[in-house]
Amino acid sequence: MAFGIYIHIPYCLSKCRYCDFYSAGHSGGVPDEYVRAVVRQLESEQLPRPDTLYFGGGTPSLLSAEQLERMVRAARPLPDAEVTVEANPETLSPALLEGFLRAGANRLSLGVQTAFDDSLRRLGRPHTAAQSREALRMARQAGFANISGDIMMALPYYSQAEFDATLELLEEGGACHISAYLLKIEPGTAFGRHPPAGLPDEDETADLYLYAAEQLERHGFAQYEISNFARPGRRSRHNLLYWNCEDYRGIGPAAHSCMRGVRTAWPACTADFIAGRAAETVTGECTGEDFVMLQLRLNDGLDLASLKQKYGLELQAEKFRFVEQCVRGGLATWKNGRLCLTPRGMLVQNAILCQLLDFD
Ligand code: SF4
Repeated sequence: MAFGIYIHIPYCLSKCRYCDFYSAGHSGGVPDEYVRAVVRQLESEQLPRPDTLYFGGGTPSLLSAEQLERMVRAARPLPDAEVTVEANPETLSPALLEGFLRAGANRLSLGVQTAFDDSLRRLGRPHTAAQSREALRMARQAGFANISGDIMMALPYYSQAEFDATLELLEEGGACHISAYLLKIEPGTAFGRHPPAGLPDEDETADLYLYAAEQLERHGFAQYEISNFARPGRRSRHNLLYWNCEDYRGIGPAAHSCMRGVRTAWPACTADFIAGRAAETVTGECTGEDFVMLQLRLNDGLDLASLKQKYGLELQAEKFRFVEQCVRGGLATWKNGRLCLTPRGMLVQNAILCQLLDFD
């Protein structure tokens, strides 16, 4: 069993209009009292040495290299661990990137989103496409070989040309992993309060997703999860922990954990976390239904033998008939005893799950 640690850095330069992650905008850096609180928490727990360590946010690239180094040291990753830092293009410099590498980071996940500056402005992103290009160049030059880039699709007035330009930017910049997400309008965000004009409808969004999946494959990024594509050997080991229902420990406000089948979450309050008065709550158990849901996100699909062995659950004849319908309709396929959704099946994953996740 692999084990991972996630550390949340709840600070951003400004708040993007679509973002519902827990973070404070208008932060020029990460207060040292926050780093001390993370280190204190890590040192107070007897956690195993992790196979993966992930700094997410928020904007972890607002950390100094020295702050990152203290948290990496406290987390004690294994010698061959994957250590990822999420970064925003406008926050990077050669010195910071070299410092991150020296601190133990070996994977960079860059929030590029789009190569069109008009779209970046509309999203409220505080950087340009030129800054993304420069950030990729600096990261490679500093010595990062494992670079991931985020693409956000189905933006207002989105076109295949915008996707193509963004893929080209990332490919030329040396990214070997791409996370390609569809814009979702979340309540409580600026976009939720004032939805932007020009959003594609459901059919256009589905077409964009299928187009993106096809182009990414053509360019050598094999799909391995609904939104994730990688060159050979470059899948995100940390994110695979989540989808394979393995143990992970989250540290920081709003961070989630799943340890030995129990899910917990920290309250979304940075001040309480810093003061050491935040109390985690149990949010549920990791069930067979979670396993089915998470495994069907993966191109490798759901292993029915594991479902039976881990959770004592089996698909009944009626479910098999439904699965066979999906296979005939091009929504699913069988690979070595594993049930896998095709890209078209992934688009209607929720509807498929509704039929499958009824084990009574
Ligand atoms: S930089 Fe990331 S975490 Fe921060 S506001 Fe923008 S999307 Fe949210």
